Amino acid sequence: MTQTDAPLPQGSIVGILGGGQLGRMLALAASRLGLKSHIYCPDPDSPAFDVTPLKTVADYEDPAALAAFAAEVDVITYEFENVPARTAEFLADHKPLRPGANALAVAQDRLAEKAFLSINRLPVAHFAAITDLDRLEAEIEEIGTPAVLKTTRLGYDGKGQRIVDNMEDAALAWELLTPKPLVLEQFIPFEREISVIVARNAAGQVAAYDPAENVHRDHILHTSTVPAAITGKTAAKALEIATAIVEALNYVGVMGVEFFVRDNGKLLVNEIAPRVHNSGHWTEAVCITDQFEQHIRAVANWPLGDPARMANVVMENLIGDEIAAIPGQLDPTTRPHAYGKAESRAGRKMGHINRITVKKRKK
Ligand code: ATP
Ligand code: MG
Repeated sequence: MTQTDAPLPQGSIVGILGGGQLGRMLALAASRLGLKSHIYCPDPDSPAFDVTPLKTVADYEDPAALAAFAAEVDVITYEFENVPARTAEFLADHKPLRPGANALAVAQDRLAEKAFLSINRLPVAHFAAITDLDRLEAEIEEIGTPAVLKTTRLGYDGKGQRIVDNMEDAALAWELLTPKPLVLEQFIPFEREISVIVARNAAGQVAAYDPAENVHRDHILHTSTVPAAITGKTAAKALEIATAIVEALNYVGVMGVEFFVRDNGKLLVNEIAPRVHNSGHWTEAVCITDQFEQHIRAVANWPLGDPARMANVVMENLIGDEIAAIPGQLDPTTRPHAYGKAESRAGRKMGHINRITVKKRKK
């Protein structure tokens, strides 16, 4: 066993890039396992700074700050996929970066992501790279309408994409969407959307959670419901695809895999996120091992925990002023989680609640 194969001992420090709610929940999980965490984030008001004293407030492309951070920690992970490639390479030269730079490269570029899925024979909607307006018009002829035109990088919560119904829409969408190039996708008239949270450690152990059914409101995740209203066969297929993805990437950590489910039960991968995922927040309430602990276990070279689910659950995001539900409208079957953000802005994820349904035992 080499040094990097050994499980990180108690008191080791997990470096986390990003100080939002995901970084905060990762730091809490690390702490519960006897590990420390050091948060690196440019925003001095980051919610993750509340839960650990070890922090760096600096730009993600500040080499001196990155070097000092890397020197302080034993392993480095992140809560967001837009870590600059140069930063990822720089950090990986100093300390183990998990998930690796290859996973970031695939997940932060929709074209690279779709190409990776196609090469691995995993199901994905028809797509084409769009470098200019002529190409866009030609590909609309090929793919048909409606279609969805998206930026390849930096999209989130539905930002950076437009539905295209005709050539006029296409010209406008081409003008409005930046940065270029873009990617054109076939519009999928899906029956529902699901996601699978999957984890893999360096030893190759894989653990996948039950699929969650996701409903969006104003392009932001509203609820994740488990179990999803899909057949056992579709659920098994989703887990199989998610497992194939982490294996193909030689991935270490937790990943979120989003799918469209068609009315015939067939699945298409929409996108992958190389990190803990909003649609996995239900795991903290009803699973033996939640996604945050699972990610820390994976990046710390520990054995994975059991992802088994012990109850049915609906996770609901609290956006903006909805945070007033904590403590306002709590009922005893609800597990609340507030992110401690000082300012509640429209569209900002402030917290979530998990509504748990435990099967009653027959008397
Ligand atoms: P998020 O941050 O919420 O994951 P995102 O900005 O990364 O979103 P996508 O996941 O690609 O973008 O798309 C957001 C939503 O738009 C999808 O969850 C789906 O509801 C809809 N959508 C995206 N692409 C398609 C498509 N090809 N066909 C039908 N609907 C689509
Ligand atoms: Mg998405």
